[in-house]
Amino acid sequence: MSTPSLLILAGDGIGPEVMAEVTKIIGWYGDKRDMPFDISEDLVGGCAYDKHGTPLHDDTMAKAQEVDAVLLGAVGGPKYDDLDFSVKPERGLLRLRKEMDLFANLRPAQCFDALADFSSLKRDIVAGLDIMIVRELTSGIYFGEPRGIFTEGNERVGINTQRYTESEIDRVARAAFELARRRGNKVCSMEKANVMESGILWREVVTKVHAESYPDVQLSHMYADAGAMQLCRNPKQFDVIVTDNLFGDLLSDAAAMLTGSLGMLPSASLGAPMANGRPKALYEPVHGSAPDIAGQGKANPIACILSFAMALRYSFDQGAEADRLERAVEKVLADGARTPDLMGPEGGTPLTTAQMGDAIIEALNASL
Ligand code: NAD
Repeated sequence: MSTPSLLILAGDGIGPEVMAEVTKIIGWYGDKRDMPFDISEDLVGGCAYDKHGTPLHDDTMAKAQEVDAVLLGAVGGPKYDDLDFSVKPERGLLRLRKEMDLFANLRPAQCFDALADFSSLKRDIVAGLDIMIVRELTSGIYFGEPRGIFTEGNERVGINTQRYTESEIDRVARAAFELARRRGNKVCSMEKANVMESGILWREVVTKVHAESYPDVQLSHMYADAGAMQLCRNPKQFDVIVTDNLFGDLLSDAAAMLTGSLGMLPSASLGAPMANGRPKALYEPVHGSAPDIAGQGKANPIACILSFAMALRYSFDQGAEADRLERAVEKVLADGARTPDLMGPEGGTPLTTAQMGDAIIEALNASL
């Protein structure tokens, strides 16, 4: 295969700061593991608006469609708060997700032992946690029609519609089963088939896909409200959770908090396979542009670095190298390296964004 291509869209606020550390790590893989990447960089969000009057230029969109994977930092900031909705920085991100048809959003909730005390749950419930939530991202209640605020008689009514086709459920279920085969081989599907017809169809289609194509994977079903309780009670029972757009939005945020800091959470959004077999893919940290700390060297680059680890695993089939990077992160945390967001009551001197990146490179060197 030709050299894999990456489009880097660092964006606004802390986006460029955390992405600078990812760029160092990409360089390390080129130098030390003979894994060069063909990198191009472009603008998204507020910085794209400043230059082009739009948060995502058509040329950037076209590039995103061509590359093997897009890495995004973060978009937004107070400077853009009063812009018209149609050109807000976030519209750039939404356009990428929509036009690349990224239907499967992967949000891992992984708790590094060294940070278990940051969780709102007890250490023994979260230490070593490693689950993956697969959220359907391009359909469901956020997109279904009819939607709007209408007048009925003498009062207004707000309407949104939950709508899923069989093929939309089928493709996200397949994404979840494929993932499970690379992990703990278990999928739990969550819906509300007890009260929603879309949930009944969801359960039927997931069951059919499983029986036809993935009988080797262990499948269970859970009502999403019970799933939320189980996530807090005993999250380690799960491996891969697959769910719709609305429930996934809530469940993945709840699961994220099991692990502590926003600065630690990566994500991937995947679409259909391209001609070369790789999925359309966008990797980004879960956090935003953090204007309160931007430009001060205080941002934690780990969420963005772990997003690149996901790219290694899911776009470039380099699971062993992704493990290497995740282990390097684990090691620096175990050794006590902390950016300010990870400082506990015991205090100490925090590392800057660049120092954290350098520590991870050192741990990568030590892994050779
Ligand atoms: P945020 O995620 O930017 O910040 C929330 C809090 O977490 C802040 O106190 C921030 O300092 C801290 N934080 C976030 N990332 C961190 C990191 N890597 N290291 C250390 N601390 C970190 O959310 P917000 O404040 O609600 O939003 C700020 C801007 O970001 C807004 O314009 C919002 O629209 C945008 N936003 C963008 C995305 C995205 O690009 N995907 C996501 C969420 C919010």
